Amino acid sequence: MRYSIATVSISGTLSNKIEAIAAAGFTGIEIFENDLISHVGSLKDLRQKMTDLGLTLEVYQPFRDFEGMPEPFRSRNFDRAERKFDLMEELGTDLLMICSNVSPHALGGIGRAADDLHELGDRAAKRNMRIAFEALGWGRHVNDYRDSWEIVRRANHPSVGLTLDTFHIYSRGTEIDSMLNIPGDRIFLVQVADAPKLSMDPLSWSRHHRCFPGQGELDLASFMENIRATGYDGPLSLEIFNDQFRSSDHFRHARDAYRSLIYLAGETEENESAPSQPLKDIPQPTEVEFIEFAVDGDEHTALSAFLTQAGFTHAATHKKKQVELWRQGAINLVINREPESFAQRYHGDHGLSVCAYGLTCPDPKALVERATSLGYEMVHANPEHDTHGIAAVTGPTGALLYLVDANDTPSHWEREFIHHPINQDAMLKRVDHVATTMPFDAVLEATLLYRSVFQMTSSPSVTIADPLGIVKSQVMEVADRGIAMTLNSTLAGGTVVAQSQNRYQGSGVNHIAMETSDIFALAEHLKIQGAELMDVTPHYYDDLAARFSLSEDAIDRMKSCHILYDEDDDGIFYQLYTKLFNGRFCFEFVQRQGYRGYGMANAQIRLTMQARELDLLR
Ligand code: MG
Ligand code: MG
Repeated sequence: MRYSIATVSISGTLSNKIEAIAAAGFTGIEIFENDLISHVGSLKDLRQKMTDLGLTLEVYQPFRDFEGMPEPFRSRNFDRAERKFDLMEELGTDLLMICSNVSPHALGGIGRAADDLHELGDRAAKRNMRIAFEALGWGRHVNDYRDSWEIVRRANHPSVGLTLDTFHIYSRGTEIDSMLNIPGDRIFLVQVADAPKLSMDPLSWSRHHRCFPGQGELDLASFMENIRATGYDGPLSLEIFNDQFRSSDHFRHARDAYRSLIYLAGETEENESAPSQPLKDIPQPTEVEFIEFAVDGDEHTALSAFLTQAGFTHAATHKKKQVELWRQGAINLVINREPESFAQRYHGDHGLSVCAYGLTCPDPKALVERATSLGYEMVHANPEHDTHGIAAVTGPTGALLYLVDANDTPSHWEREFIHHPINQDAMLKRVDHVATTMPFDAVLEATLLYRSVFQMTSSPSVTIADPLGIVKSQVMEVADRGIAMTLNSTLAGGTVVAQSQNRYQGSGVNHIAMETSDIFALAEHLKIQGAELMDVTPHYYDDLAARFSLSEDAIDRMKSCHILYDEDDDGIFYQLYTKLFNGRFCFEFVQRQGYRGYGMANAQIRLTMQARELDLLR
């Protein structure tokens, strides 16, 4: 299959789009009619531009409201089609996509539609053109691919074929096994789009929420399996209507578009003519090896004090750089204030923040290979350029994701750091999850990266009511929840999430959650250390008493320690937050007893209390 993309999928002028699409690696393109109509410049130059950039115009689309029309609309439609054939001739494409009729004038009847398509097929054939008929999910009479196939089958014309579009199929919940009855050479075009599962009308859902494969929740893998089984070998084209993609950087999104097809098709595509090599299944990273903070001098002092209160110890110092390792249990926190480093550049752009995560990987080489095949750029991949020699991929927040070799001995900590004797009873065991805030479209980029490179799975996105707006939250995790990232975003400017984005000038961390086995002892310790804990309202505890069968004592104990509580089918969960450090991030301490979630039920109280800390509420 040839990789292609509809121009509607990204932002900019038609020229901008063509350039970005070619730069991303595509060889095929679909011109969306509106883009052409508003194009300034001749068709000849446009065609030349595509040729010069190595792009084949696979399809011109869409041709609307054609089949089943009464006169005089019917005759007018045939005239209109001839004009489009003229245009296509000039542009150098032979395929016109026709989507099913939504006009109130349209008459039903599969036979009538088939006759119309047959006649148009005759006209197309005279011009060496072909037409590909698509069932729109909201078509007036034809809205199911099984009907559009029946129409194409009855039209029985070599120049008339079918378009299959994953969105229209899945948005109506249509089964996909009937696809297997369609001969591959009768399908002229396959359009793929992913989407979050939403309960809304298909038209609005389609116009605003489609996304690239790997970013949503549709079962595209099964669709691809069926489409291969038909023997189809035409364009595999992205047709993505998405508000964010149409309002932000077209080069960036075109690259994501291309890698989403590699992820979708390359995963199983074996033949030599495939545009990409198959991606190998590889072992996932297993845990968070370290979290690195970029700080300046003053922040270093304050952050050291904050870490000390939380029971961390300055365990080692870098042999050559102004980099410290703070440790507790299996948690490694790195504080970096080395001049001229990546960390300091990151600090320059974002201020005090997490600039890197280390992920423990059983096979980092395989991960580097996978990330590279997907077109992600590696940083530090060459050991000669950096003493630690650990490859990293740039994460969605701009922070680096280091791929730390689980089998590296001696470890980079031993090789590069001078260790100080520490005498420590660790109260914290491991990093449980990291909650980040990011712009809306960055969440889609992040989802694709975490899924395609690390093969993480995602929870469905949930909506949380921040006191000043709606926040969307989604969890990405590896198997066994060894690594979990929650991605929060919002369009509401007053929310804690939006304030965080302002402060960080982009994406950043809201909290780092760490697991303890005795949260009450930890809370007492934190109080003695003078750590500032996030306030919780008395009403929260009244509500807990109403929701769960907890003793008054248990509730009082939680209340006195500022501890939050939740239960799911698997067990119980305690949470405790510090106040925000420099108004930016905090620590969350969690204790799990079988519980599998991340305390989403308590996100609202956290966001409200954090909004108070940030003085956002009057
Ligand atoms: Mg379509
Ligand atoms: Mg959390």
